[in-house]
Amino acid sequence: MSKNTPKAIRGTQDIFGPDAEAFAFVVETFERVRKLYRFRRAEMPVFEKTEVFARSLGETTDVVSKEMYSFEDRGGDSLTLRPEFTAGIARAYLTNGWQQHAPLKLATHGPLFRYERPQKGRYRQFHQIDAEIIGAAEPQADVELLAMADQLLKELGIEGVTLHLNTLGDRESREAWRAALIDYFSAVKGELSEDSQERLEKNPLRILDSKDRRDRPFLADAPKIDDFLSEDARVFFEAVTSGLDAAGVNWIRAESLVRGLDYYRHTAFEFIPDEGSAAAEALGAQSTVLGGGRYDGLMESLGGPATPAVGWAAGIERLAMLVGDRPEAAADIVVVVEDDEMIEVGQEAVSAIRNAGLSAEFIASGGKKKRYDKATKVGSHAILSMSDGERRLRFRSEGADCERVAAQLKSLNLD
Ligand code: ATP
Ligand code: MG
Repeated sequence: MSKNTPKAIRGTQDIFGPDAEAFAFVVETFERVRKLYRFRRAEMPVFEKTEVFARSLGETTDVVSKEMYSFEDRGGDSLTLRPEFTAGIARAYLTNGWQQHAPLKLATHGPLFRYERPQKGRYRQFHQIDAEIIGAAEPQADVELLAMADQLLKELGIEGVTLHLNTLGDRESREAWRAALIDYFSAVKGELSEDSQERLEKNPLRILDSKDRRDRPFLADAPKIDDFLSEDARVFFEAVTSGLDAAGVNWIRAESLVRGLDYYRHTAFEFIPDEGSAAAEALGAQSTVLGGGRYDGLMESLGGPATPAVGWAAGIERLAMLVGDRPEAAADIVVVVEDDEMIEVGQEAVSAIRNAGLSAEFIASGGKKKRYDKATKVGSHAILSMSDGERRLRFRSEGADCERVAAQLKSLNLD
C-alpha cells in the first residue's frame, strides 16, 4: 500500500472471511425465521428526507441531534443516510398506501449510518435486521414479534441473553410519569451529570438510562411507571406478559428501561446479555443486541392517521460477535485438470457438477505438477482429477456429505 492509497472511512468495516460467514449466517437465519412467522420482505431506500427522521425520532434524541449523516443534495433538499429503519418504513407505509395490507408484517435488513465514536461493536456504518408489525393494536402482535426475536436468538445458537421488558404506558401514563420524574430529578439537579441536567429539560426519561456514576445513586428511588399506568395500559401490559409466558419466552421486568426515541408507547424491550455470561464478555460495553417497542404515535408525527405498530431491530455485527467465527464451508468437490488438453473436458464436468447443485472449485492453471497439490489445499469432500485418458476420484472424508457427493457424481457418470 502506498502512502497515497485512500484509507477506509473511520467507523466503516470491511468484513471478510469467517466474520463475513458469521454475518451471512445471521442474515440467512433471520430470513428463515421471518418466513416461519410470515413476515413479508421489504427493501427500503438508504436515504430519506431529513424530516422523516427528525419528525419521527424527535429533535432532542441523540440520534437526531448528534448522530445523523445529513447533507444537501444538488437540488438543495436536505437528505439523511438512514440511522434506523422504522421511520423510513413508516413513511413508506403512508406514501404507498400500505394501509390496505394492514396488519402488515414486514422484515428487512441492511446498512445504517450514525456518527458515533467507533469502538468494538459500535460503528458509523453498521447493519441491522429489522421486523415491524404495522396496523395491529393488540398485545398479541407484541407477543408474536418478541417470540420471533427469541426464536431467532435460539436458532443462532446464542445463549445467556435475556429479554428485558418494560411498559412506558399510553400517552396519558407516560406524561404523568414524565412529570413525576421531572419533579424528582429537579430536586437533585445540581448533583446530576451535565448530560442528565440537559436531559431533565428535554428528555427526562432518558436519565433512567444513564450510565454515569453521578446519576446512579438517584436512579433506584426514581418514580416508577407502574404508579402512573392507566387501567388500559396496565391491562395491555399484562396481556403481553401472559402471552410471552404462553409462548415460552423468558423475560424479566426492567422498570427503568426507556429506549431513546420519542415514538415509543406501551411495550419497550431489549435483549441484553446476562451479567458474567460469555455473551456479555464477547460484547464488552456495547451490550444490547436487539431493541424495540410499540410506536403507536409515530405515524401521526409524519402526518398520517393514528396507526398502532410495534417493531424491533438488532445489530447484525453484535449478533455475529455472539455467533462467533464460522468456518467457510468446504467445497463438495475440486476438479483438477492435469493436462491442458483436458481443460474443456474438465470445464464440462465442473459445469455439470455445479448445475446438479454441488459446490465445486475448478483448478486448471499454473504449473501442471503443482495443480494436484493446489487442489489438496482447498477444503473439500472430494477431488476429481483429470489427465490424459484418466479420471481419478478421491474422497477425503467419510459421512453424509461424501455420500451425497458420491450419489450426484454417479448420476452424472463422473464417478
Ligand atoms: P446503543 O444503546 O448501543 O447505542 P441504540 O439504543 O442506539 O443502542 P437502537 O437504535 O435500538 O440502538 O438499534 C438497535 C440495535 O442496533 C442495537 O441494539 C445494536 O445491536 C445495534 N446498533 C445500534 N447502533 C449501533 C452502532 N453504532 N454500531 C453497531 N451496532 C449498533
Ligand atoms: Mg445509540
